[in-house]
Amino acid sequence: MPLWLKLIAGSAFFVLAIWAGLAILRGLANPGPDRDGSETVDVEAEDVRYRCGVCGLEIRMTRAPADDAKPPRHCMEEMEPVDAAANQ
Ligand SMILES: [Zn+2]
Repeated sequence: MPLWLKLIAGSAFFVLAIWAGLAILRGLANPGPDRDGSETVDVEAEDVRYRCGVCGLEIRMTRAPADDAKPPRHCMEEMEPVDAAANQ
């Protein structure tokens, strides 16, 4: 293999490695969806409760996203809403 070919191959590998490393770092630095707390509503008075169907954990919601009413997840499953009046 001639020297000029080694230099080109080495330079190409160097650029590729730097590019891949920067792409990984960019992915790690991405903060994800904007959730600064300004889009949530207070649901404490509504006594919203959820129970995990797998392990039985029960939680009471105090704040929830205003736009997204999906139930929280636990044990990789969506939690089931609990009828608060039935527990009193
Ligand atoms: Zn669970």
